[in-house]
Amino acid sequence: MNPESPENQIRKIVDACADCDDCRFMMDQSCLFLPELFRLYDREKETGQEIPPEDLRHLVDLCNFCALCPCRNVRTDIMKAKTAFIERDGLDWRIRALQDVERLSKVCGAYPRMTNRLFQNRGMGSVIKKGGGIHPDRSVPRFPDSPFSRWAEKQDLKNKSRKTSGRKAAFFAGCTGRYLFPEVPRAAVEVLRRNQVAVFLPEQRCCGMPPMLEGDRDLALKLAEFNLDQLGQAVDEGYDIICSCPTCGYLLKDVLKEGAYHSSAFQESVEDAKPGYMKVPAPFGVGGSMDEKFVWLKTSVYGNLLKDDGYFSDLDPLQRIRVAEHTYDLGEYLSMLCREDAFEKPIHSIETRAVYYPPCHLREQEVGTPYPDLLSAVPGLSVESIGGSFYCCGIAGIMGFKAEFHDASLQMGRPLMEKIAEYHPDLILTDCLSCRLQFNQMTDYEVRHPVEILSGSYSGRPRRPD
Ligand code: SF4
Ligand code: SF4
Repeated sequence: MNPESPENQIRKIVDACADCDDCRFMMDQSCLFLPELFRLYDREKETGQEIPPEDLRHLVDLCNFCALCPCRNVRTDIMKAKTAFIERDGLDWRIRALQDVERLSKVCGAYPRMTNRLFQNRGMGSVIKKGGGIHPDRSVPRFPDSPFSRWAEKQDLKNKSRKTSGRKAAFFAGCTGRYLFPEVPRAAVEVLRRNQVAVFLPEQRCCGMPPMLEGDRDLALKLAEFNLDQLGQAVDEGYDIICSCPTCGYLLKDVLKEGAYHSSAFQESVEDAKPGYMKVPAPFGVGGSMDEKFVWLKTSVYGNLLKDDGYFSDLDPLQRIRVAEHTYDLGEYLSMLCREDAFEKPIHSIETRAVYYPPCHLREQEVGTPYPDLLSAVPGLSVESIGGSFYCCGIAGIMGFKAEFHDASLQMGRPLMEKIAEYHPDLILTDCLSCRLQFNQMTDYEVRHPVEILSGSYSGRPRRPD
C-alpha cells in the first residue's frame, strides 16, 4: 500500500485507536466512527483477513467531527484522510451541492415561497430529495420570507460603529442563522445592543465546517481565508468577534488555530523569546515551565514534533491566532458582561418550563455552559440542563440529510430525545441551529436559541413570528 494513500492514513488511525482501546466502550452510543473502527479491527483479528479498502473508505465517512472523543489529533487525522480520498477520487456532485450550505441557502432563499411550496408538495419534494441525495423522510426546513441580511441593512449593521469607547462587536451570524432562522441573529444583535455593545456585521462567508467535514479542503480553505481577512481587519480596529453559532465559534476559535503557535512565524514574533526554546500553549507543555497560558519547551527536543500541521495550516498562522484569540461565543461574551456588572437584567416574565441542551461544539470551546446562568435572571422561566457529555442530537451538519446516514443520525439522537421527554418541557433551548433542525425532525417541542428568550424578556414580546 502506498504510504501516502488515504487507506494507509485511515489504517494508521485504526491501529492507534485499537492499541489505545480507551474509546471501545466510552464512545459506543454517541459516535458512529469508533464503534465501527473496533468492529472492523476485531473482525480482522478473528478472521485474519485485512480490513478491505472499501470498509476503510466507509469508515472515514462516519466521523462528523463532533469532538466528543478525547483525541484532537485523531479527529484532525480523520479529516485529513477524508480529504485525501476526495482529492484522489473526487466528490460526488450531490454532496458538492449539499455541503456548500451558503450557496444552496442563497439559491433556495431567493424564492422562499416557491421553494417551500416545492418541498411541501409530496411528489415534487420526493423527486428533489432523491435527486439531491436527501433521505425521503428528512424534513427540509422552511425558508423565511425575509433573510437576516435585509433586516441588517435596515439596521445599518453593515457600517462600522463610530463609537470611540466601550465595547464593539463584529458579529459572525453563521449560514443557518442568516438563511434559515433569521430571528436568532436578530435577537443576538438586539441583546448586544441592549447591553451597550456596538454591533457591526462584517462581510462573511460560511465558516468552512461543512466542506471540511466532506473533505473539500479547497473550498474550506477559500472560505476560511475570506473570513480571516474580514475578521482580522475588524480585530485590528478594536472589534471583538462574536458567534451565536457554536459550530462557527468552534471553528474560528479552535480548529483554525490548531498548530499555528508551532509555526516559525509565531515563534519569530514572540517578544520575550528565549534562545533555544519554543513558546507554546500550556496543554502542550508536559514537563515545561509554566508562564500563564504558555510554556517554554526546548526546541532541540520538541522542534521536530510540534509543527504547524493543522487542517488550515496553509493559511497565515499569525492571522489565525489573531482572529481565534479575539473570538467569543455569544453566551461566553454575555457572561463576561455579567461579571463586569455590565449586563442588564431581563425584565419581562416568561412563564415557561424549558430544557437546555448544550451542543457538542460549545462543550469543546471549554467555556462552560453560560446560558443557564444568564437565563436564571429571566422572571418566570424555569430551565433544566441536560447533563452528561455524551448526548448528541445526531444530525452532524449535512450528514443527517444524506439518504445513507439519515437512519443512523436518528439512532444517534434517540437517547437525547428520550432524555428530553423525561423533563416534559414546554420548550427546548439550544444555541446550535443544526441541533434545532434535528429536534424539529424528531420531536414536537418548540425549539429556541437562548438569546431569543433574553431578547423576548427585554422587549416583552417573547414569541415572535418567524
Ligand atoms: S480517540 Fe484517542 S482515546 Fe479514543 S481510542 Fe483513539 S487514541 Fe484512544
Ligand atoms: S469527532 Fe465525533 S464522530 Fe469523530 S471520532 Fe470523535 S466522537 Fe466520533
